[in-house]
Amino acid sequence: MIALVPREFHLFQAAGRSFLYLVPSAAVFALDEATSAVLRVVSERAGEGEDGVVAALSDRFEPAAIHAAVAELLEVRAIGYEHQPLDTPPRVLPMMPFPLNTMVLNVTNQCNLACTYCYEYGEDKIVDTAHGKQPKFMSEETARQSVEFLLRESGPTAHVTFFGGETLLNFPVLKATIAYARRRAAEAGKTIDFSLTTNATLLRPEIIEFLAEEQIGVTVSIDGPRELQDRFRVFHNGAGSYDVAAPKIKELLRRHRSRPIGARVTLTSDTLDITRIYRHLTEEMGFWEVGFAPVTTSPQQQYAIGEHGFDRMLDQFRRLAREFADAIAENRHHGFSNVKDTIEEIHKGVSKAFPCGAGLGLLGVSTGGDVALCHRFAGSDEHKFGTVNEGIDRARQAAFLEQHHIADKTDCSRCWARPLCSGGCYHEAHVRYGSTTRPNLHYCEWIRGWTETCLEVYGELSERNPAFLARLDRAEARAEVAV
Ligand code: SF4
Ligand code: SF4
Repeated sequence: MIALVPREFHLFQAAGRSFLYLVPSAAVFALDEATSAVLRVVSERAGEGEDGVVAALSDRFEPAAIHAAVAELLEVRAIGYEHQPLDTPPRVLPMMPFPLNTMVLNVTNQCNLACTYCYEYGEDKIVDTAHGKQPKFMSEETARQSVEFLLRESGPTAHVTFFGGETLLNFPVLKATIAYARRRAAEAGKTIDFSLTTNATLLRPEIIEFLAEEQIGVTVSIDGPRELQDRFRVFHNGAGSYDVAAPKIKELLRRHRSRPIGARVTLTSDTLDITRIYRHLTEEMGFWEVGFAPVTTSPQQQYAIGEHGFDRMLDQFRRLAREFADAIAENRHHGFSNVKDTIEEIHKGVSKAFPCGAGLGLLGVSTGGDVALCHRFAGSDEHKFGTVNEGIDRARQAAFLEQHHIADKTDCSRCWARPLCSGGCYHEAHVRYGSTTRPNLHYCEWIRGWTETCLEVYGELSERNPAFLARLDRAEARAEVAV
């Protein structure tokens, strides 16, 4: 007798049936009654052979159905033979040179706001923007050199995201760079597109007009209704920014219809009223979608989200995710982008060796032209990968990837959520633990709870609106054709 044992999977229920999330392949597998029953027997009676499984289920299924279910579960590696070694995350490093897809350009490290929790100016900052070597504003020349760098390093498509500080403090350079990049990309036969993040307080009619005309993707950093926004997002004199930002955002949303505009909310322990924030930003302000991210900070800060805060956050995320599932099942729009983004990853079978594209397809550029891991590290010597003029230090990039592979994060290597989490944001790890190599173990429960919720929504949509998931394939196929 060869004993059968369960392998790495996560079982979940959706739309009244059982599904498996197969960890090594990151695939979702719907179970019928026979496969479900076989899996239960193998999981509960470790060491049982196939004949034992048939005997245990002989009153409910024909032997042929049980053998077929065992074969299917073996094939997808939901179960295996006891003597066979477990699948471990393969230590495969990406082919180099990896094409640069997204360049985040920090056009300034200055800001007209002084948000209490800001990673750029608060106590947790990495880059000394006040006394460091980086200029306060990126020059037009450095921006042009950055464009040339991107066009050298990218494949057929390239994306520029303007970031800050407050991006619009350097609007003249931003505007000139877009014109230059469009011309140079056309000459190079490449497709290029642009987006920016702003706090919206400096929007003016001519800027809004430009963003709309040029079809620039816009994300607005905003934390919700007045009293939540004004808790942390304040001017240097301490005055809240809601009353300045809100009318400008409304004008932006009215005029800029060429691309959907999203809001990006930073959650703190004091501002966890997620449902209310969502309603305000979508129904009252008119944002197409809203994404939420917990504040990145050391645990000592009073606004850091603690264990109870993560529970509260998860509870509200789950409620909004349910609302998303019901809306999508009826072919209505829902703007909760956290769930939409994760569902897209699940659908594509994403299994990450690294938590995000930082240092790989995404790089940040500081105001002085230093190339770094991502925008949050731009200007930090410790996380520098080269300069826009000299190019990427390939040896340094390779060493970084060597040190940050999921296979080396021992705590993560047996976690069922690792295909989507892969240890979490490097910046968060740096702030929490002082090292980008550390996994973010302070939020595992939250990550696993949230991943489970997204799997449930995915399973439910596969039953209630499979056409929606099929459209994700077509959207991807269109992107490939565009490439
Ligand atoms: S950080 Fe936690 S949740 Fe994420 S992969 Fe590692 S162990 Fe899993
Ligand atoms: S390291 Fe963190 S902040 Fe930087 S790109 Fe990755 S997830 Fe975003």
